Amino acid sequence: MRRKLAAGNWKMNGTAATLSELDALQDAATGAAEVLICPPATLIAQAVARAGRIAIGAQDCHSDASGAHTGDVSADMLKDAGATCVILGHSERRADHGETNAQVADKTRAAWGAGLTAIVCVGETLAEREAGQTIDLVRTQLAGSLPDAVSGANTVIAYEPVWAIGTGKVPTTDQIAEVHGFLREALTARFGKDTAGAIRLLYGGSVKASNAAEIFAVADVDGALVGGASLTAADFAPIVNALN
Ligand code: PEP
Repeated sequence: MRRKLAAGNWKMNGTAATLSELDALQDAATGAAEVLICPPATLIAQAVARAGRIAIGAQDCHSDASGAHTGDVSADMLKDAGATCVILGHSERRADHGETNAQVADKTRAAWGAGLTAIVCVGETLAEREAGQTIDLVRTQLAGSLPDAVSGANTVIAYEPVWAIGTGKVPTTDQIAEVHGFLREALTARFGKDTAGAIRLLYGGSVKASNAAEIFAVADVDGALVGGASLTAADFAPIVNALN
Protein backbone atom coordinates (compact mmCIF):
# COMPACT_ATOMS: atom_id res chain seq x y z
CA MET A 1 0.00 0.00 0.00
CA ARG A 2 1.55 3.28 -1.08
CA ARG A 3 1.10 6.16 1.36
CA LYS A 4 -0.29 9.25 -0.37
CA LEU A 5 2.11 12.18 -0.52
CA ALA A 6 1.41 15.92 -0.76
CA ALA A 7 4.74 17.59 -1.52
CA GLY A 8 5.18 21.36 -1.65
CA ASN A 9 8.00 22.97 -3.60
CA TRP A 10 8.51 26.53 -2.41
CA LYS A 11 11.15 27.16 -5.10
CA MET A 12 13.04 30.46 -4.52
CA ASN A 13 10.38 31.84 -2.20
CA GLY A 14 10.28 32.37 1.52
CA THR A 15 12.10 33.92 4.44
CA ALA A 16 12.00 33.01 8.12
CA ALA A 17 8.63 34.74 8.47
CA THR A 18 7.11 32.38 5.88
CA LEU A 19 7.67 29.42 8.21
CA SER A 20 4.51 30.35 10.11
CA GLU A 21 2.75 28.58 7.23
CA LEU A 22 4.06 25.31 8.68
CA ASP A 23 2.18 25.99 11.92
CA ALA A 24 -1.00 26.68 9.98
CA LEU A 25 -0.59 23.41 8.04
CA GLN A 26 -0.37 21.15 11.11
CA ASP A 27 -4.07 20.21 11.19
CA ALA A 28 -4.02 19.00 7.58
CA ALA A 29 -0.86 17.03 8.39
CA THR A 30 -2.68 14.91 10.99
CA GLY A 31 -4.44 12.94 8.23
CA ALA A 32 -3.44 9.80 6.35
CA ALA A 33 -1.35 11.52 3.70
CA GLU A 34 2.32 12.36 4.23
CA VAL A 35 2.94 16.10 3.98
CA LEU A 36 6.31 17.37 2.78
CA ILE A 37 7.50 20.94 2.31
CA CYS A 38 10.68 21.72 0.37
CA PRO A 39 11.70 25.28 1.27
CA PRO A 40 14.82 27.04 -0.02
CA ALA A 41 18.02 25.53 1.44
CA THR A 42 18.48 28.58 3.68
CA LEU A 43 15.31 27.68 5.59
CA ILE A 44 15.67 23.90 5.96
CA ALA A 45 17.14 23.84 9.48
CA GLN A 46 14.66 26.40 10.80
CA ALA A 47 11.80 24.58 9.07
CA VAL A 48 12.85 21.29 10.64
CA ALA A 49 12.81 22.93 14.08
CA ARG A 50 9.12 23.81 13.73
CA ALA A 51 7.99 21.12 11.30
CA GLY A 52 5.75 19.17 13.68
CA ARG A 53 4.08 16.47 11.58
CA ILE A 54 5.43 17.86 8.31
CA ALA A 55 8.51 16.37 6.65
CA ILE A 56 11.06 18.84 5.31
CA GLY A 57 12.92 18.33 2.05
CA ALA A 58 15.24 20.16 -0.33
CA GLN A 59 15.00 21.24 -3.96
CA ASP A 60 18.36 20.08 -5.34
CA CYS A 61 21.74 18.70 -4.27
CA HIS A 62 25.21 18.35 -5.78
CA SER A 63 26.32 14.89 -6.80
CA ASP A 64 29.58 15.13 -4.84
CA ALA A 65 29.71 14.72 -1.08
CA SER A 66 31.93 17.80 -0.59
CA GLY A 67 34.54 19.86 -2.39
CA ALA A 68 35.22 22.87 -4.58
CA HIS A 69 31.71 23.64 -5.83
CA THR A 70 30.99 27.21 -4.82
CA GLY A 71 27.35 27.84 -4.05
CA ASP A 72 26.32 24.19 -4.14
CA VAL A 73 24.96 22.05 -1.32
CA SER A 74 25.62 18.32 -0.90
CA ALA A 75 23.11 15.65 0.00
CA ASP A 76 25.00 15.01 3.25
CA MET A 77 24.59 18.69 4.17
CA LEU A 78 20.86 18.52 3.51
CA LYS A 79 20.60 15.41 5.65
CA ASP A 80 22.62 17.12 8.37
CA ALA A 81 20.18 20.06 8.26
CA GLY A 82 17.29 17.64 8.84
CA ALA A 83 15.93 17.11 5.33
CA THR A 84 14.47 13.70 4.52
CA CYS A 85 13.90 14.14 0.78
CA VAL A 86 15.30 16.07 -2.15
CA ILE A 87 13.63 17.04 -5.42
CA LEU A 88 15.92 16.19 -8.35
CA GLY A 89 15.71 16.92 -12.07
CA HIS A 90 12.95 19.51 -11.73
CA SER A 91 12.29 21.03 -15.16
CA GLU A 92 13.47 24.43 -13.89
CA ARG A 93 16.83 22.85 -12.96
CA ARG A 94 16.97 21.05 -16.31
CA ALA A 95 16.18 24.33 -18.16
CA ASP A 96 18.05 26.90 -16.03
CA HIS A 97 21.12 24.79 -15.27
CA GLY A 98 21.21 22.41 -18.23
CA GLU A 99 20.89 19.36 -15.99
CA THR A 100 21.05 16.12 -17.97
CA ASN A 101 19.51 12.77 -17.15
CA ALA A 102 23.00 11.45 -16.29
CA GLN A 103 23.54 14.29 -13.82
CA VAL A 104 20.16 13.65 -12.26
CA ALA A 105 21.13 9.98 -11.88
CA ASP A 106 24.40 11.01 -10.17
CA LYS A 107 22.49 13.30 -7.83
CA THR A 108 20.01 10.53 -7.10
CA ARG A 109 22.90 8.22 -6.09
CA ALA A 110 24.26 10.97 -3.85
CA ALA A 111 20.84 11.49 -2.25
CA TRP A 112 20.51 7.77 -1.55
CA GLY A 113 24.03 7.67 -0.16
CA ALA A 114 23.07 10.37 2.33
CA GLY A 115 19.88 8.56 3.30
CA LEU A 116 17.56 10.95 1.49
CA THR A 117 14.55 9.98 -0.60
CA ALA A 118 14.92 11.30 -4.15
CA ILE A 119 11.86 12.84 -5.82
CA VAL A 120 12.87 12.50 -9.46
CA CYS A 121 10.97 14.72 -11.91
CA VAL A 122 10.16 13.96 -15.53
CA GLY A 123 7.88 15.68 -18.01
CA GLU A 124 7.54 16.98 -21.53
CA THR A 125 7.46 20.50 -22.96
CA LEU A 126 4.47 21.72 -24.93
CA ALA A 127 6.39 21.31 -28.21
CA GLU A 128 7.21 17.70 -27.29
CA ARG A 129 3.57 16.97 -26.44
CA GLU A 130 2.34 18.56 -29.65
CA ALA A 131 4.87 16.51 -31.61
CA GLY A 132 3.50 13.31 -30.05
CA GLN A 133 6.76 12.68 -28.18
CA THR A 134 5.48 12.65 -24.59
CA ILE A 135 5.84 8.94 -23.86
CA ASP A 136 9.22 8.65 -25.63
CA LEU A 137 10.54 11.67 -23.77
CA VAL A 138 9.34 10.46 -20.39
CA ARG A 139 10.73 6.98 -21.14
CA THR A 140 14.16 8.45 -21.89
CA GLN A 141 14.14 10.72 -18.84
CA LEU A 142 13.04 7.93 -16.53
CA ALA A 143 15.59 5.44 -17.86
CA GLY A 144 18.44 7.94 -17.74
CA SER A 145 17.65 9.61 -14.44
CA LEU A 146 17.19 6.48 -12.30
CA PRO A 147 20.11 4.35 -11.13
CA ASP A 148 19.49 0.63 -10.58
CA ALA A 149 19.12 0.53 -6.80
CA VAL A 150 15.64 2.04 -6.79
CA SER A 151 13.18 1.16 -4.03
CA GLY A 152 9.82 2.39 -2.87
CA ALA A 153 11.53 3.91 0.16
CA ASN A 154 14.34 5.76 -1.60
CA THR A 155 12.53 7.09 -4.68
CA VAL A 156 9.39 8.97 -5.67
CA ILE A 157 8.69 9.90 -9.30
CA ALA A 158 6.96 13.17 -10.17
CA TYR A 159 5.36 13.56 -13.58
CA GLU A 160 5.39 17.29 -14.27
CA PRO A 161 4.49 18.42 -17.79
CA VAL A 162 6.60 21.56 -18.25
CA TRP A 163 3.71 23.38 -19.94
CA ALA A 164 1.51 22.86 -16.87
CA ILE A 165 3.97 24.25 -14.32
CA GLY A 166 2.91 27.65 -13.04
CA THR A 167 0.67 28.23 -16.05
CA GLY A 168 -2.77 27.26 -14.76
CA LYS A 169 -2.98 24.73 -17.61
CA VAL A 170 -3.62 21.17 -16.52
CA PRO A 171 -3.59 18.01 -18.64
CA THR A 172 -6.84 16.09 -18.94
CA THR A 173 -7.28 13.21 -16.54
CA ASP A 174 -6.86 10.88 -19.53
CA GLN A 175 -3.50 12.46 -20.34
CA ILE A 176 -2.37 12.11 -16.72
CA ALA A 177 -3.61 8.51 -16.62
CA GLU A 178 -1.73 7.67 -19.82
CA VAL A 179 1.61 8.92 -18.51
CA HIS A 180 1.21 7.52 -14.99
CA GLY A 181 0.16 4.17 -16.43
CA PHE A 182 3.21 4.22 -18.67
CA LEU A 183 5.50 5.13 -15.74
CA ARG A 184 4.19 2.20 -13.67
CA GLU A 185 4.67 -0.13 -16.64
CA ALA A 186 8.20 1.10 -17.33
CA LEU A 187 9.16 0.78 -13.66
CA THR A 188 7.71 -2.74 -13.59
CA ALA A 189 9.64 -3.76 -16.69
CA ARG A 190 12.93 -2.55 -15.21
CA PHE A 191 12.61 -3.17 -11.47
CA GLY A 192 9.90 -5.83 -11.17
CA LYS A 193 6.34 -5.69 -9.92
CA ASP A 194 7.04 -5.44 -6.18
CA THR A 195 9.49 -2.56 -6.42
CA ALA A 196 7.46 -0.73 -9.07
CA GLY A 197 4.32 -1.22 -7.02
CA ALA A 198 5.95 0.43 -4.01
CA ILE A 199 7.14 3.59 -5.80
CA ARG A 200 4.89 6.60 -5.42
CA LEU A 201 4.00 8.54 -8.57
CA LEU A 202 3.13 12.21 -8.07
CA TYR A 203 1.46 14.51 -10.55
CA GLY A 204 2.72 18.11 -10.65
CA GLY A 205 1.64 21.18 -12.61
CA SER A 206 -0.93 23.79 -11.55
CA VAL A 207 -2.51 21.58 -8.88
CA LYS A 208 -4.89 23.62 -6.75
CA ALA A 209 -7.79 23.08 -4.38
CA SER A 210 -10.32 23.17 -7.21
CA ASN A 211 -8.72 20.41 -9.33
CA ALA A 212 -6.96 18.26 -6.70
CA ALA A 213 -9.73 15.72 -6.05
CA GLU A 214 -10.23 15.04 -9.75
CA ILE A 215 -6.49 14.52 -10.29
CA PHE A 216 -6.13 12.32 -7.20
CA ALA A 217 -8.91 10.06 -8.49
CA VAL A 218 -6.76 9.10 -11.50
CA ALA A 219 -5.29 5.60 -11.34
CA ASP A 220 -1.62 5.51 -10.33
CA VAL A 221 -1.62 9.07 -8.99
CA ASP A 222 -0.27 8.76 -5.45
CA GLY A 223 -0.24 12.46 -4.66
CA ALA A 224 1.07 15.74 -5.98
CA LEU A 225 4.14 17.92 -6.23
CA VAL A 226 2.78 21.44 -5.82
CA GLY A 227 4.54 24.74 -6.48
CA GLY A 228 2.54 27.95 -6.24
CA ALA A 229 -0.32 26.51 -4.22
CA SER A 230 2.04 25.16 -1.55
CA LEU A 231 3.25 28.60 -0.47
CA THR A 232 0.41 29.24 1.96
CA ALA A 233 -1.40 26.84 4.25
CA ALA A 234 -4.68 28.37 3.07
CA ASP A 235 -3.99 27.08 -0.45
CA PHE A 236 -2.12 23.87 0.42
CA ALA A 237 -4.28 22.47 3.23
CA PRO A 238 -7.30 21.80 0.94
CA ILE A 239 -5.00 19.93 -1.46
CA VAL A 240 -3.63 17.83 1.41
CA ASN A 241 -7.18 17.22 2.63
CA ALA A 242 -8.22 15.99 -0.83
CA LEU A 243 -5.64 13.22 -0.31
CA ASN A 244 -6.55 12.47 3.32
C1 PEP B 1 6.41 22.65 -9.68
O1 PEP B 1 7.15 23.54 -10.04
O2 PEP B 1 6.85 21.60 -9.22
C2 PEP B 1 4.97 22.87 -9.81
C3 PEP B 1 4.20 21.84 -9.90
O3 PEP B 1 4.54 24.19 -9.84
P1 PEP B 1 3.02 24.72 -9.88
O4 PEP B 1 2.22 23.88 -8.91
O5 PEP B 1 3.11 26.14 -9.47
O6 PEP B 1 2.54 24.54 -11.28
